[in-house]
Amino acid sequence: MGDLKIYNSFTRAKEKFTPIKPPHVGLYVCGPTVYSDVHLGNCRTFISFDMVYRYLSHLDYKVRYVRNITDAGHLENDADEGEDKISKKARLEKLEPMEIVQKYSLSFHKILEKFNNIPPSIEPTATGHIVEQIDMIQDIISKGYGYEVNGSVYFDVEKFDKNIGYGKLSGRQLDDMISGTRSLDGQSEKRNPLDFALWKKAGPQHIMQWNSPWSKGFPGWHLECSVMSSKYLGDSFDIHGGGMDLKFPHHECEIAQCHVAHDKDPVKYWMHGNMLTLNGAKMSKSTGNTLLPDELFEGNNEFFDKGFEPFVVRFFIMQAHYRSTLDFSSDALEASDKGLQRLITAYHNMSSVKVAEASEVDVKALEAKCYEAMNDDLNTPLTISYLFEGVKWINSALADKLKLTAVDLVGIKKIIDTFLIEIMGVNFLENGAEASDNSKESELVELLIKLRKEAKESKNWGLADSIRNELSEMQILLKDGKDGTTWSK
Ligand code: AMP
Ligand code: ZN
Repeated sequence: MGDLKIYNSFTRAKEKFTPIKPPHVGLYVCGPTVYSDVHLGNCRTFISFDMVYRYLSHLDYKVRYVRNITDAGHLENDADEGEDKISKKARLEKLEPMEIVQKYSLSFHKILEKFNNIPPSIEPTATGHIVEQIDMIQDIISKGYGYEVNGSVYFDVEKFDKNIGYGKLSGRQLDDMISGTRSLDGQSEKRNPLDFALWKKAGPQHIMQWNSPWSKGFPGWHLECSVMSSKYLGDSFDIHGGGMDLKFPHHECEIAQCHVAHDKDPVKYWMHGNMLTLNGAKMSKSTGNTLLPDELFEGNNEFFDKGFEPFVVRFFIMQAHYRSTLDFSSDALEASDKGLQRLITAYHNMSSVKVAEASEVDVKALEAKCYEAMNDDLNTPLTISYLFEGVKWINSALADKLKLTAVDLVGIKKIIDTFLIEIMGVNFLENGAEASDNSKESELVELLIKLRKEAKESKNWGLADSIRNELSEMQILLKDGKDGTTWSK
C-alpha cells in the first residue's frame, strides 16, 4: 500500500507519516465557535478532516479524534478586546449564552450529520475546562512567561521569541509583526502589543465569567485548544488541523503556550485546509459573504432554484485538494453533480455487464493507483480521476467494447465503495448515512450470485464453482433452490 505522506505546514514539506505511538494516532482539530450557523466554508474544513480521520482509520490506525467546541472566550474580531461572540448573540436574541451554545451546537451537529461526517471521539468544550485552563495559566506564570495586570493575565511573546522562537509556523518575524500592529484601545495593559490574553478580567457587560486567582473573568481564546489537546492527546501528539486562517495568531499562540507548559513543541504534523471562496473572496461570516449548507440543499439561494443532495456537495469538496482554494460557483457544482451522476449510473449498471472469462483490464493496478494518490498528502481529486477510469471500463463493457470478468467487477465495486463511500464519505447509496458494512456486504453477495447465475447460463462451470468456493471460504454459503439462490453466513 505504500507509505502515507502528509504535508506538514510546520516544516513546509511533505513528510512520511510516522505516529508517535503506533498504532495510535492523536488528531486534534479546532472546532467551531457556536454563535451562528456554520457556513459552507466552515464545513469544507470539517469535511476535509473527516476524510483525514476516515483514511487514517482505514489504514488501521487507532485514531483518537478530538474536536473542540468554543463556547466562551472568543471575542469579536478575534482580538483581546470587545464583546464575546456568544454573549453578543445572546444579548441580541435575548437568550442565555448557554441557550445560544445549545442552539448552534445542535445545528452544527445536524449539518455535519447530513454531510455524513463521523463524530469525533471527544468533543470537549471551553466552558467545561475552565479549571484546567486556570491551571495552565498558573504554570505559564510560574515559568516566567505570563504576567498579570489589573486582573488580566498576558503571555509575554517577546520573551518567548527570545528564548524559544515565536512565529515558526506562520513564518513571521517578530520585528515585522510589531511594526505591523497599531496600538489599539485597551492594549495599553500589555507590555507589547503582540502579547495575547491568557485570562481577561470581565467588564460589567460581560455575562460569562468565572472565579480565578486574578479576577472574575474568562480565558483567552487560544488557551482552550492548548489545554484540551494536551489533556486528551498528551503533551506531544501526532496531528493538529484547522483552516489556514487559524495559523496566525491562533495556532502560533497554541504552540507558545504548550511549549512553555510542557517544554516541547506540542504537535508533530500541522495540517491546514485551504479556504472555500465565494465570488473570489473568502467565505466569511463577518463579511456576510456566505452560503449556508441548508440553503444549498433546499435550493434557496442566489445561485440555484433546485436543491443538491449533501453527498453531491461533499463530492464537489472532495474534487479539490484540501490544500487548494476552492471557489464555489454554480457551474463548478453543476459539473461535479453531472460527473457524480455518471459514476452512480455506472455503479448501478455494473450488474448488467455481461461477464467475460478473460480480463482486459488491471483492477489491482487501479486500486494501487488510488492508494498512491491518497498516500500523496490525501490527493482526493486524483483518486477521483482514477475512479472515473473504472467508470469508463464499466461503460465500455456495457457497450461490449471491453471484456470484464466477475472478479474485475467485484474489484471495481470495491474500489468505489472503499475510496468514494468509505474514505471520502460520499455516500450516494439509498440508505444514506445508515449504509452499513452489512448492507454493503449483502449487495456484494447479491452481485456475485447474479454473476454466478450468468456464468452457469453460459456454461462457465469453472467460474460458477469458483464463486461458490471463494464465498464459502469467507463463511458465506450459497443454497440453490427452485426460486433461485439464497445465502447465509
Ligand atoms: P470559526 O468558527 O470561525 O472558528 O471557524 C471554524 C473553522 O472553519 C476553522 O477551522 C476555520 O479555519 C474554518 N473556516 C472559516 N472560514 C472558512 C472558509 N471560508 N473556508 C474553509 N474553512 C473556513
Ligand atoms: Zn484551536
